[in-house]
Amino acid sequence: MSARGIVKECTVCGTSFKTKTNTSGVWETRCDTCHSARKTKHSVQKLNRQVQSNMMSLESRTKTMEEKFANIELVIEVAARDIVTDAITKALEEIKASTLEEAKQIIEAHVEEQTEKWQMQLLKMNNRIRALTKELGLDD
Ligand SMILES: [Zn+2]
Repeated sequence: MSARGIVKECTVCGTSFKTKTNTSGVWETRCDTCHSARKTKHSVQKLNRQVQSNMMSLESRTKTMEEKFANIELVIEVAARDIVTDAITKALEEIKASTLEEAKQIIEAHVEEQTEKWQMQLLKMNNRIRALTKELGLDD
């Protein structure tokens, strides 16, 4: 009895090969070449699965971003409504305690102030959207 392995026929390529030990001769069915080819194939398959999983995660992230973009108009509308409501409430409080001419000036000042704030907010939002779009590569 040989101290190191037994001779078997590779189930893949059919060549004779020596198993590593007598014990492993029970389960070894492939020669070294076929065995490492199979291992490489498995590694490639594993890598493919990882890439696919990463792609899917990126896809779902992109989808989430797209959904957020779809809602952005509504978000801006609601924000704008809040700003306008705040401005009107503030203006009304001041108008209650003033003459008509003063009231006119107060309204104009408020409208100017709120318009500037609103424009700044829109500009900021716009820059954020542009940055996100670039980051996700959606700007082609
Ligand atoms: Zn083989």
